[in-house]
Amino acid sequence: MTPLSPGSRIGILGGGQLGRMLAGSAAQLGFDVSILCPEADCPAARVAMDHRVAAYTDLDAVLDWARGCDVVTYEFENVPVTTAAHLIDHEIIVRPGAAALEVSQDRVAEKTFLNQCGIDTARFAEINTAEEIAAPIERFGGAAILKTRRDGYDGKGQVRLAAGDDYAEALRALGNAPSILEAMVPFSCEVSVIIARSAEGESICYDLPRNDHTNGILRRSVVPSQLDAEVEARACEAARKLADALDYVGVLALEFFVLENGDLLANEFAPRVHNSGHWTPEACATGQFEQHIRAIAGWPLGPVTRYHKAEMLNLLGDEIFAHSGVSATDGVLTLYGKRHPKPGRKMGHLVRRLD
Ligand code: AMP
Repeated sequence: MTPLSPGSRIGILGGGQLGRMLAGSAAQLGFDVSILCPEADCPAARVAMDHRVAAYTDLDAVLDWARGCDVVTYEFENVPVTTAAHLIDHEIIVRPGAAALEVSQDRVAEKTFLNQCGIDTARFAEINTAEEIAAPIERFGGAAILKTRRDGYDGKGQVRLAAGDDYAEALRALGNAPSILEAMVPFSCEVSVIIARSAEGESICYDLPRNDHTNGILRRSVVPSQLDAEVEARACEAARKLADALDYVGVLALEFFVLENGDLLANEFAPRVHNSGHWTPEACATGQFEQHIRAIAGWPLGPVTRYHKAEMLNLLGDEIFAHSGVSATDGVLTLYGKRHPKPGRKMGHLVRRLD
C-alpha cells in the first residue's frame, strides 16, 4: 500500500476513548475518520466525521462501511476475528490484521504464542473443569489466579485461589467459562512496553512506564520506570520479537511483571494503543495515537524522544468531577465524554510533568 495522502479515510472499529483519541490524532494529520460501533452515542463518534451504527458481527454492514475507508483499524481487541478476516478476504486493508486479534483474545493462545516467541510468562494450565485445578495449583506452590480465557478486562473475570479453596465455587464465579490457571507471580513491579511497528517493519519503543494497579485496574503509570537500562532493553527486545512474529503494523502494548532479580514475565499484550501509554502525547515528540495512525497510514514512524518525567493518573467514576471546571494548573486533563460515571469506569486521565 502506498502511504495514504491527507484527506484519506481511516475507519476505526470501536467507539470508546481509545477510538476517540485516535480520531483526534488522525484529524490532526489531515485524515477523515469514520467510526463503526453498535452504540448510537459513543465517545469516538462525537469527534469523528462519520459514524456507522452496526453490530461487529454484521458482516455485510461492516464490509459496506469498510469499502468507504482507505484503511481499517481497531481500538479494542475483542473485534470478532471472523469480521477482520472477512474484510481482509474482500481486500480491505486491516491494520494490525487478524492474527493479533486471534492470539490476544484467548489467554491460553496468547501465553502459548508468547512462549513460542521465546518470551517467558507465568506458568499456566488450561482449565475446563474444577477437577483440573488441584494438580497445577500444587505445582505452582499453592497460590494462583484463575481467569476466564476470553473477555476479561480491568481485573474482571478472575479470582485468586489458594490450595484447598473451593475450586468448583471459583469456577462457578467465572460462569464455568473455559479458563486458565496462572501461577501467582511475586513481582516487584509491573511495566509495559509500548511499541510501534511500521508497514516497512521498522519498530520503535517508548521508554517503559511503571504501572500501578488496584483491583486489577490501572491507576497510575510513571516514566521513567527506574529499572536498569538492561532490563528495559530486554523488555523491548521481547516486544520486538512479538511484533515481528505477528507482522504487526501499528502500536502494541506488552505488559510485564518484573521480579526482584530483574527477570521479566510477560502477562498479556494488547493489539492497540494502551492506557499505560496515555502520557506519551504530552511527554514525547510523537504520542502513541499519532504513532498508530502514522503506522497504519504507511507513514514513517515519529521520534519517541521523551522530554520530561511524567505520571499519568486514571480518573475513575466520579473522580472526573474533582478535575473538571477547575483551572488547569495540575496537569493536562483528558476526559472521554462518557455519559455515565459508574464506579471504577475509566472516565478520563491526567498527565503531570514530574521534573
Ligand atoms: P490482567 O487482567 O491479566 O491484566 O490482570 C490484572 C492485574 O492483576 C495485573 O496487572 C496484576 O496486577 C494482577 N495479576 C494478574 N495476573 C497475575 C499473576 N499471574 N500473578 C500476580 N498478579 C497477577
